[in-house]
Amino acid sequence: MVTIEIIAIGNELLLGDTLDTNTSWLCRTFTGLGGHVERAVLVRDDRPAIIREIRGALERGVQLLVTSGGLGPTDDDLTLQAVAEALERPLVLNERALALVRETYERLAAAGYVTNAQLTESRVKMARLPQGAEPLENPVGAAPGVLLRLDRTTLVSLPGVPAELKAIVTGPLRPILQELFGAGVFRQREVIALCRDETVLAPILSEVAERHPEVYIKSRAREFGPDIRFRITLSLSGRDPTSIEAKLEEAVRDLRDALRQAHIGLEA
Ligand code: ATP
Repeated sequence: MVTIEIIAIGNELLLGDTLDTNTSWLCRTFTGLGGHVERAVLVRDDRPAIIREIRGALERGVQLLVTSGGLGPTDDDLTLQAVAEALERPLVLNERALALVRETYERLAAAGYVTNAQLTESRVKMARLPQGAEPLENPVGAAPGVLLRLDRTTLVSLPGVPAELKAIVTGPLRPILQELFGAGVFRQREVIALCRDETVLAPILSEVAERHPEVYIKSRAREFGPDIRFRITLSLSGRDPTSIEAKLEEAVRDLRDALRQAHIGLEA
């Protein structure tokens, strides 16, 4: 299974100003492709902190490392400097990235969204990539995404604006993800138990989980209240959808039987 780590970068995330929706979207996307997200962290716009996280992920040998945020034109957008420094490579002007930035500003100027299409230093900054990197066209904004194929790790840096991040992942990054993930799949089923007390469910779930070690069984705790419906999810990733469906089906049947035997009702 492809292992993944995510680094979400930005002071606004740690000030509590912006909710980190990028990480949850990326987790859902990669899990859906059959990948295994092992770690996700939030860090400030702080070069040494970003470098530390990148080096840590590379040392752990993660297969896909994704950063979100800090690709823009301002001085606090430090991600690419940090990536370059973590890899001990220089930042160099990438001609293809420069062409993408130029096209974007020509389009924005023609639409009247910016006053001119001049390639100012702030705009050129977005085309300076760590040596050996390839730009990923940003169909929505100005800063291209960045792809680096390293020995063990594919490192991808994406802009923080959610629409831009999603457009790159579902657009130019798609074939790269397909190559990396192959035909991986993820399936999830749910069982709703009519029981509000998780402590009653716990021993039943652990017995069923023991009988189906490949299936991830999780009860979704929530606050106590009048609602007695308790959601339990069962999930599994792999390459063969038929065998995944069969294993899940067996675990669902087993769980439903075990709950019935404990006189716990089930929602149809
Ligand atoms: P740009 O190229 O547009 O400048 P950037 O890569 O520099 O993008 P940031 O400046 O880090 O991105 O973030 C831009 C905006 O995107 C933030 O103000 C915030 O609203 C949003 N954003 C950043 N990170 C996240 C995140 N992890 N989840 C959700 N929204 C985010």
